Amino acid sequence: MSDTDARAALPRTDTLLADPDVLAAGAGRGAETVRRTVRSVLERARAGEVAVGDVRTTVLTELAAPASSLSPVLNATGVVVHTNLGRAPLSAAAVEALAGAAGHTDVELDLATGRRGRRGASVLAALLEAVPAAEAALVVNNAAAALLLACTALAGGREVLVSRGEMVEIGDGFRLPPLVESGGARIREVGMTNRTSLRDYEDALGPETGAVLKVHPSNYRVTGFTSSVPVRELAGLPVPLVADIGSGLLVPDPLLPDEMDAATTLADGADVVLFSGDKLLGGPQAGILLGRAEVLEVLRRHPMARALRVDKLTLAALEATLRGPVPPVPASLHLDPGEHSRRTAALREAVGAGEVVPCVGRVGGGGGPGVELPGVALALPEEVAARLRRGRPPVLARVEGGRCLVDLRCVAPAADDELAGAVRAALAGD
Ligand SMILES: *Cc1c(COP(=O)(O)O)cnc(C)c1O
Repeated sequence: MSDTDARAALPRTDTLLADPDVLAAGAGRGAETVRRTVRSVLERARAGEVAVGDVRTTVLTELAAPASSLSPVLNATGVVVHTNLGRAPLSAAAVEALAGAAGHTDVELDLATGRRGRRGASVLAALLEAVPAAEAALVVNNAAAALLLACTALAGGREVLVSRGEMVEIGDGFRLPPLVESGGARIREVGMTNRTSLRDYEDALGPETGAVLKVHPSNYRVTGFTSSVPVRELAGLPVPLVADIGSGLLVPDPLLPDEMDAATTLADGADVVLFSGDKLLGGPQAGILLGRAEVLEVLRRHPMARALRVDKLTLAALEATLRGPVPPVPASLHLDPGEHSRRTAALREAVGAGEVVPCVGRVGGGGGPGVELPGVALALPEEVAARLRRGRPPVLARVEGGRCLVDLRCVAPAADDELAGAVRAALAGD
């Protein structure tokens, strides 16, 4: 068939748009998306990129694809808070709350009186119940936003004292000083990289000091000849003390002895603690601020608070994370070793290949930089890892020592069969 004949054989736009299968496949999409898809496939057919005979099926396939192209993946890396995989997976309770809040909700309305209510009042109450040492709470977009808001509201146009040993890069090239200074406060470094004393803070303190900031080393460790000033001592300084504890432990966790937690940090005298919602807490992306009522009121009233506020979906998911059953992140951290071994042996059985070997899981971007989480994994040939990643669903495994390690630590038990299917397909080379 010549090019001209082929083009003549192309279905017409109107015919495709009226096709019952196209209508059915496009039912979950807007009419405009359906038209755009049909036009795009026809254009590609004219350009020779889609065979004329495949036009109709290509349209149907493209319309059937999910409306969001973010693909769910199975995290078999053994890294609990994996930044590239969206950090914390939400609990079933949080997912249900998200869906429930998607339409109209009473996020800023008191249904009893019919008057405007405090936005997200119930999630704030849940935070205060979880950390009774806090007098007040505020939720913003993420911990970086919480840090920016606290420093700007308390020290805008003035100085924030920070130990040189806590001048961190959060990730992806974003560093603490430019972040804080973008809001108008100036960073004043005190002490040395390895050692900072209370005296260093006292010497720097003056009329220009707006706040002292303590930053937890979430993703690195300073070891050797080191010293830093604990919150307890910094709390005695006559300016507000802001503690960025990063990872989001509400109360101490014996598994993570070096992580700061909100309850202890507030009891030690910090005026404000701030942390991420989607690290160890296991909730949605958010920046949570807890602390003294009068200080948090200054933050809440600052214009920047409005620009950094979270939506109803985040509020709903966060409240369900706090009030619901143990979310996946803490569950993966505190996995029962017997259960981990049993599931891994069952996976080996189901796929009929590989070897169950000891392996070490990690906390990941959420904190605990030196913490090892002993466990087991199914060891497969290294080349299986890339096939798993390109499979359906995509499975992210860990490549270590020339092997592909499939670690069930962060895989929900309900997904074990799906994972086994994906491993079988990868082994078969499909
Ligand atoms: C992770 C982290 C942040 C950034 O948190 P986001 O929620 O990603 O903005 C800031 N400070 C510390 C100490 C952290 O660990």
